[in-house]
Amino acid sequence: MTEQLMRVDAPVAELGEGPVWADGEQALYWLDIPADQVHRMAAGGQLTSWDVGQPVGTVVPRASGGLALAAQDGFMAMDQATGTLSLLAAVEPDRPENRMNDGACDRAGRFFAGTMADDERPGAGALYRLDPDLTVTTMLTGTGISNGIGWSPDERLMYYVDSLTYQVDVFDYDPATGAIDGRRRFAAVGQGDVMPDGLTVDADGGVWVAVWGGGALLHHDPAGRLRQTIEVPAAHVTSCVFGGPDLDRLYITTAAGDGAGAGALFVTEPGVTGQLSHPFRG
Ligand code: CA
Repeated sequence: MTEQLMRVDAPVAELGEGPVWADGEQALYWLDIPADQVHRMAAGGQLTSWDVGQPVGTVVPRASGGLALAAQDGFMAMDQATGTLSLLAAVEPDRPENRMNDGACDRAGRFFAGTMADDERPGAGALYRLDPDLTVTTMLTGTGISNGIGWSPDERLMYYVDSLTYQVDVFDYDPATGAIDGRRRFAAVGQGDVMPDGLTVDADGGVWVAVWGGGALLHHDPAGRLRQTIEVPAAHVTSCVFGGPDLDRLYITTAAGDGAGAGALFVTEPGVTGQLSHPFRG
């Protein structure tokens, strides 16, 4: 077990975000949102980057090939040969001041992602679900900065962060229908300029939360108790995901700001394994 935090040799991001492990490719994808960049790192460290021409908040593998994104205009498909986007489903076309932000897919391949206003205005965003048949369902309205999403290993719970609430919430989740219900607080995180951002759920149901402005990643047990704090040399820690052949490497993204590692990608082996990142199945 290596608890040491290692810096990965990768481009320094303005707003590094959205790491996801593509198990079939044994590759890590992540984003630089305002730079319109999608990055991919293969197992051998080979880096590929695409300029997709608009801010992109989430990237996930697509089971039918290529990638699916949550971007400025909505849910998109990306051709990896060219980086060209095509629209799967428009989201909030009447609200150009909003963009799509963090998201993730459940085991059935439903793609959840939220929106936020460019000026981070409270209540301006929403959370959406893109089903494999390309229908879009509004799951929540009146969100602030819609961020981390993840599921318990049995998919009976969905964790969700609206950063402006300073808490990680949890819903009851119906894996048969993709419905959410019974929102309640799971854990309080931050205050002032310190707030929760992205998250991932490990194979034991532990919830790992990136702390924007807090220079740390927090590990809560399934009861919401804080078990571990990983200090990161970047104030703006944005998201995390487990990857590697044994899903025991925890990749951590960061953004520009204070700290010697601001904007860098990090990896550590915290001694637990993650769950697979699921592809969009549409
Ligand atoms: Ca985020």
